Amino acid sequence: HADNAMFEAKQQGRNNYHFYSKPMNVEARKRLTMQNGLRRALENDEFYLCYQPQLDAKTRRVIGAEALIRWQHPQLGLISPNDFIPLAESTGLIIPIGEWALRIACEQNKRWQNEGLPPIRVAVNLSVRQFYHQGLLSSINAALQQSHLDPRWLELEITETLAMTSADKTLKKIQALQDLGISMAIDDFGTGYSSLNYLKQFSLDILKIDKSFIGDIHSTSGKALISTIINMAHSLGMHVTAEGVETLEQLEELETMACEYIQGFIFYKPLLKEDMQQLLIRENSKIVNTLSQ
Ligand code: C2E
Ligand code: MG
Ligand code: MG
Ligand code: MG
Repeated sequence: HADNAMFEAKQQGRNNYHFYSKPMNVEARKRLTMQNGLRRALENDEFYLCYQPQLDAKTRRVIGAEALIRWQHPQLGLISPNDFIPLAESTGLIIPIGEWALRIACEQNKRWQNEGLPPIRVAVNLSVRQFYHQGLLSSINAALQQSHLDPRWLELEITETLAMTSADKTLKKIQALQDLGISMAIDDFGTGYSSLNYLKQFSLDILKIDKSFIGDIHSTSGKALISTIINMAHSLGMHVTAEGVETLEQLEELETMACEYIQGFIFYKPLLKEDMQQLLIRENSKIVNTLSQ
């Protein structure tokens, strides 16, 4: 094959594009493999969820976890959600995939509770398309009913882009979800373009500061910005989760600023469910020890 290609290219002259387009073909083929694979990934059981612990900044106890999807592709290996979620979103496959994630997260959380482990809130990411899908409420209700999970242990993360589109519809949907007893969080805060006015109307429960801000906390302006965001969130009745906390300096600054929850590599990376379970078992024995003292 290679010889043929070479021969053809030579015949067609020096500027032959077949030669130069070859690396592109590899990329294009990978995309196509991913696109086709995405359609069958659910039935082939290729997705799994990791859980990244969230800690109370004061007590350092694990109070929650964010469920983060992973795709183990049979040929391409492990694929990051940053690479396939946009594809799932544009093809509409995010609807069944998102429903799957929601169901698994609820079931897993309930299973931990049934094992007598300290209850935590599990946060699930909702994509824009999923949020506006007309079947959202019924699929959430189904996930809650089938798992028997109390809705107070479920948190849904939405992004700021939502805040800009048809505010009234957005407002009603958020309210309907909160009426079920679910906590609503705004994810990646500061990277989108939500107006402060919308933020006030939405009355969300949790604001997650994006990790790009946390990385800037050492600078005077970065510090000022974060403390402004935290104070604003508090005055709107929200609690704050800092995402992407990696250093002791960042942790200490956030504690000083009364940020409630910490999620980041300084404590834990996203964990396999077995490792999350081991962590909860250790947390449980800490609580038992405290009680028996
Ligand atoms: P996200 O919702 O903002 O999730 C946080 C991301 O930051 C995760 O990346 C997490 O591993 C990473 N992270 C957490 N702490 C640190 C840290 O200290 N340092 C660094 N460098 N990174 C940290 P991940 O798991 O690759 O997920 C990427 C994005 O994919 C998520 O960003 C979310 O937007 C999307 N995603 C993941 N799972 C789902 C899902 O089930 N549904 C939807 N719709 N989107 C999902
Ligand atoms: Mg998130
Ligand atoms: Mg985020
Ligand atoms: Mg993100």
